[in-house]
Amino acid sequence: MPTDFAATRAQFDLPEGILYLDGNSLGPLPRNVAARLARTVTQEWGTMLITGWNKAGWMDLPTRIGDRIARIIGAETGHVVLGDTLSIKVYQALASALEMTPTRKVILSDTGNFPSDLYMAEGLCRTLGDGYELRTVAPEDVADAIDDSVAVLMLTEVDYRTGRRHDMPALTAKAHAHGALAIWDLAHSAGATDVKVAAGGADFAVGCTYKYLNSGPGGPAFIYVAPRHAETVRPALSGWMGHEAPFAFDLSYRPGNGIERMRVGTPPILQLAALDAALDVWDGVEIADLRARSIELCEAFIAGVEARCPTLTLGSPRDPLQRGSQVSFRHPEGYAIMQALIARGVIGDFRAPDVLRFGFTPLYIALDEVNAAVEILAEIMASDAWDTPAFKTRAKVT
Ligand SMILES: *Cc1c(COP(=O)(O)O)cnc(C)c1O
Repeated sequence: MPTDFAATRAQFDLPEGILYLDGNSLGPLPRNVAARLARTVTQEWGTMLITGWNKAGWMDLPTRIGDRIARIIGAETGHVVLGDTLSIKVYQALASALEMTPTRKVILSDTGNFPSDLYMAEGLCRTLGDGYELRTVAPEDVADAIDDSVAVLMLTEVDYRTGRRHDMPALTAKAHAHGALAIWDLAHSAGATDVKVAAGGADFAVGCTYKYLNSGPGGPAFIYVAPRHAETVRPALSGWMGHEAPFAFDLSYRPGNGIERMRVGTPPILQLAALDAALDVWDGVEIADLRARSIELCEAFIAGVEARCPTLTLGSPRDPLQRGSQVSFRHPEGYAIMQALIARGVIGDFRAPDVLRFGFTPLYIALDEVNAAVEILAEIMASDAWDTPAFKTRAKVT
């Protein structure tokens, strides 16, 4: 049955008069989350107290929800677990992968990667010392830069600024051919595109849930380890929740079964409950339908803006197959233009130095909303409504 996107739209609580094109930064609130959170707080925490870990199944939430996310990212069931923030999961995957390639010292990434991923890699290299090195090249040069010195290829599938999508199967295959492992960050692709982690051959994948999976601010991240590594990988961050028997309180660490070992500390139950409820929206969604609709929305936006706003330059790949689910336009006054848009209810965001970023999320954005956003943007550009001091003062979070 084709996915009913009117039905998914009805499951979100979006404020009246807002065109929300920023689900790539923070997904909106699904209607059922508030009730689920209230239930978890009052009926579980409030009445069960500590027995909630068993009675309410809190302890199993990280893997149970991992299986729901596995379907969305094309991973095998039983190989995804939730916990910590994405930056931590990047570090964990990287440290684990480096241990599996002990004769090599190079982490290869690209200059389009999200800074936190690069910072975590830098920090890990510093801790390891001993010649470890983060090497970054331009996104289009990654394939050529994979050679026999590379220990780990660490890439974000969809570029947070431009929406450019890397070819996961091809780059992973090349990394493997050269004896390297591949870590994929799915922050901007999980829930946005037809990610195929297993078919793409990824050794590790990580991603966050507060973007396209709508878990709310600070929602936990996920990590995937390929089944072929599941029983041999060392989790690097060896916390008690990843121990084979956390409640044996042994004095030394033994890794838990498979993906369980990638858990670190006590899971954030309230955020996990919010995520679990937020994932209900996905139950009737076919990922292929999502991808097709996302391309349709992005294409309509690009065509509309290019026809109506000649001073904006497309900052995303023109070929939809090389894009995720976001579109960027560039303009030297991008910050002020975005503020003017937000003042009129069109919420996108701005990324330095000159990128206006718009995320298209078929679960709650329809074609008429894309057209309405183009209309408002065209009006702002034609009238120079952005050209006022009020729109040029930068806030702390852009
Ligand atoms: C959003 C994002 C992050 C954020 O990491 P947190 O630890 O959740 O703040 C990291 N990496 C990428 C690629 C992202 O897009």
